[in-house]
Amino acid sequence: MFGLIGHSTSFAVARKRAEELGYMEHAKGDLDTWCSTPPQLLETFTVKSPTGKEITGGYIDSCFLPEMLPARFKTAARKVQNAMAYAQKNGFSVTALGGFTSIIFENFDLARFQKVRSTMLEWQRFTTGNTHTAWIICRQVEDNAPRLGIALEKAVVAVVGATGDIGSAVCRWLKQHTGVKELLLVARHQGRLETLQQELAGGNILQLEEALPQADVVVWVASLPKNVEVNTNTLRRPCLMVDGGYPKNLDTRIHAPHLHVLKGGIVEFWRDIGWHMMQIAEMERPNRQMFACFAEAMLLEFEGWHTNFSWGRNNISLVAMEKIGQASVRHGFRALGLSDLVTAPALSIS
Ligand code: NDP
Repeated sequence: MFGLIGHSTSFAVARKRAEELGYMEHAKGDLDTWCSTPPQLLETFTVKSPTGKEITGGYIDSCFLPEMLPARFKTAARKVQNAMAYAQKNGFSVTALGGFTSIIFENFDLARFQKVRSTMLEWQRFTTGNTHTAWIICRQVEDNAPRLGIALEKAVVAVVGATGDIGSAVCRWLKQHTGVKELLLVARHQGRLETLQQELAGGNILQLEEALPQADVVVWVASLPKNVEVNTNTLRRPCLMVDGGYPKNLDTRIHAPHLHVLKGGIVEFWRDIGWHMMQIAEMERPNRQMFACFAEAMLLEFEGWHTNFSWGRNNISLVAMEKIGQASVRHGFRALGLSDLVTAPALSIS
């Protein structure tokens, strides 16, 4: 059985969801109520691969809320640990740490605290899902840029959040596998940017405002608490923007000719899944679409790879990306593309 650990995108969304599910104490409760709430298994479901293999999984809401940060950081860390202990005690073989939970795990270095009350956490039961997410984002760049007339071998690609776990993997792939003309590396800490630049043997380090006007493609994978307003007048036309952050890093209400915003790191499964959890994640087709990190847990379960496939920071290899990518195709996942946006009301594609 595979598990998915997630959380609501905001306190308001969480309360609404609690009301729908009949948890009235939480629907009316304040932040303190949510701080003391243990993880909840909200639903279980089966998923069938085109290979015929069927697996069972469950969605565990960690009851973490973004509003708990930065002030209640200890509570946030406890939420992640409790959800992991819950998954392990309930027999989930492999569980993805979705949303902010993997970032909380890394930022608070929770690997130092393997024991959660009576449970000794077994790391091989967990994955961040970042390898699949990075592979999907690279596919989205490779598949969709040419459709806009952007030839990647002549293109300038900016990666915002380049030094992160996903960002660094995307940089590696685009530089060494795809072969883009120029990579622009954007993040805040100069030292980490220089280390990445050395590892890649290339890439230009730039501030966001300098990078955006030069880029034919922008990959957004920064761990920003809020999305960013972009001055569209300064951008190249056409420009492909792959918005891989959670919540989305970019203001997706961009309405301008020849600027194309794609939801990054989102996959569509080949058939409907009988779950409800993706409705709150504002997916276009919530019965089939999901975060690529969640899909990674499904892939590991389909393949019987019960291991922490994605773990730690900046460890993602091209070999691992190839491997999870092949499994992704085999089991009926595909990356969201520009054609999926035709019916999206918030975006104008021209
Ligand atoms: P990391 O914490 O490893 O990396 C975050 C990156 O963002 C770092 O390079 C960081 O560098 C940079 N960053 C943070 N703040 C800023 C800022 N203000 N300006 C510029 N750069 C900034 O995160 P991950 O790689 O694990 O995740 C990246 C994003 O992808 C997150 O939003 C996450 O929620 C999302 N995600 C999506 C998934 C999906 O399935 N679609 C799955 C997993 C994650 P520095 O601190 O030096 O600025």
